[in-house]
This record gives sequence, structure tokens and C-alpha cells, in this order.
Amino acid sequence: MTATKTRRELTPADVTKRFPAFRSGRLEAWQAVSRDGVWRYDRLEISGTPWMVVHLPTETEGDWYGTLTAAREATANGSALAGIERRLAHGRGEHAAERDTFCGRC
Ligand SMILES: [Zn+2]
Repeated sequence: MTATKTRRELTPADVTKRFPAFRSGRLEAWQAVSRDGVWRYDRLEISGTPWMVVHLPTETEGDWYGTLTAAREATANGSALAGIERRLAHGRGEHAAERDTFCGRC
């Protein structure tokens, strides 16, 4: 890691679904998949809705992000994976004794 690194890291991804927006008719991205096949990025089909990340190897839904760029940044920097791991731990009952305040499902 260099001290001059300021550019945001984004997971490389390809848009897999594109539909015209209901009001503007402008094409908007609705779904993308990371090139490594680990992540899917989903939006509800309503303009202005946030993006949800899905961890494909575990078929686990992660957190929501305001933009596809923000979601790709979260999968690149590990924060999205941390959220997935927390959800899997919750599913295994590891939060049963003590609530995890960052879990979102406790
Ligand atoms: Zn939990």
C-alpha cells in the first residue's frame, strides 16, 4: 500500500440488467454481477432505490447502498463481506446469547 493511493477501489462488475426508467425513459442499471462471480448487485425496479449486495457462494443478502458505485466499493474493501459474515453468524445462532449491535437482524 502506498501513501499516495487515493483512488477508490471498486470491484470490477458487469451490468446484467438494464431497463428504461418509468418516468424519464432513460436506461438505468438494475442488476450487475462482479467479474469474479462472487457478488450480485440488485435493485428494486423503482427509480431511486438503493442497491443490495448478494454474496453468491452463500446466497446471503447483504447490506443496502445508495449507488452501485458505493456497493462495488463495499465489496472491494471488505465491508460488504463483514456484513455477510455477521449474518451467517446470526443464522448459526452465535448472537443468541449476546446481541450484536451491528447485525441488523438481532
Ligand atoms: Zn444477529
